[in-house]
Amino acid sequence: MTLNVGVIGTGMIGQDHIRRLTQVLPGARVAAVADIDLDRAKAAADNVPGSRVHQSGLDLVGDESIDAVVVCSWGPAHPEPVLACIEAGKPVFCEKPLATTEEDCDQIVDAEVAVGRRLVTVGFMRRYDAGYQAMKQALSRGEIGAPLIMHSAHRNASVPASVTSEMIVLDTGVHDIDIARWLLDAEVAATAVLKPRRGSRAADDLQDPLILLLEMSSGVLVDIEVLVNSGYGYDIRGEIVGETGTVELAETAAVVIKRDGGFGGRVPADWRERFVRAYDAELQQWIDAASAGTATGPSSWDGYAATAVTNAGVQALHGGARVEVSLRPQPDLYRAAGGTGGKG
Ligand code: NAP
Repeated sequence: MTLNVGVIGTGMIGQDHIRRLTQVLPGARVAAVADIDLDRAKAAADNVPGSRVHQSGLDLVGDESIDAVVVCSWGPAHPEPVLACIEAGKPVFCEKPLATTEEDCDQIVDAEVAVGRRLVTVGFMRRYDAGYQAMKQALSRGEIGAPLIMHSAHRNASVPASVTSEMIVLDTGVHDIDIARWLLDAEVAATAVLKPRRGSRAADDLQDPLILLLEMSSGVLVDIEVLVNSGYGYDIRGEIVGETGTVELAETAAVVIKRDGGFGGRVPADWRERFVRAYDAELQQWIDAASAGTATGPSSWDGYAATAVTNAGVQALHGGARVEVSLRPQPDLYRAAGGTGGKG
């Protein structure tokens, strides 16, 4: 069976996922697209023979020939099509964030719980990265004993001048928050933000770098350095210190070049290059699950928890104090182990 997928939002990552669904991965075809910018949707459809253009995301979800939906519009527009998919019983892959407010996330969780089965997958692709999966296996096999501290670093080469300090927490740090929750199998209990000396490449008013501190419910402490104008490349680091050892992400360069008395390797240019295989694995697992009418991987609960933490992080950024994160009780639907999602 070929899964007929509709893609809502045909901007940067929407186009990349369309390429993946049409040219890279088996089992799916892009049968329709929608974008608030109709010309952009038409341009995207022109590259996919046989795909239709819908006037709105809701029209696309209502299209009876569409089996499953990928949502790649901007965050505040995510809940409407996600809720419509749940109501229609259609599996939906929603790029992060699931929603920008806890209230909207709550509504999605409630709707999915009412249906009684998982339909939503949230695009936290790091969980599909071979390096992070090897870290998780080392932890679960007890190779470093109980985790005590996690260090995470997220460095972009550069960002447009439109990026704000809040976005560094909401859009960038969110990936580190999700991976910490997943690796450590714990929720975030409180967060604080430290503001180091600003780099000279940072635009006016941008707090770059910043350090996000997470207190996990297990007592593990996580420090996340986010530097979005590193100048040298896209560099993702992670290390967990355990009672009997440490586990850390290795460099991703496939080769080391030695010459002129030194050695070196390539630093990825951006997230597309660094996580290309993770994005492929993420969507392939989604296609396979959606073809069976279900969902695996990061869930609505994970989307909700991440939004609760990032919003607390923004509060900490402005208020300067530690902010506690209080989550609603976790519904049973999200407790069962669920593939790469781990937490259900
Ligand atoms: P983008 O280039 O701005 O594309 C978003 C597209 O959605 C634009 O064409 C936008 O149109 C359109 N849009 C906005 N509201 C809409 C609506 N209600 N219905 C249909 N289309 C709508 O943004 P992007 O970088 O692709 O990001 C899209 C989403 O993916 C964001 O949530 C982002 O956080 C996420 N993302 C995730 C990753 C990851 O690593 N997982 C990486 C990049 C992005 P206008 O431009 O006219 O508003």
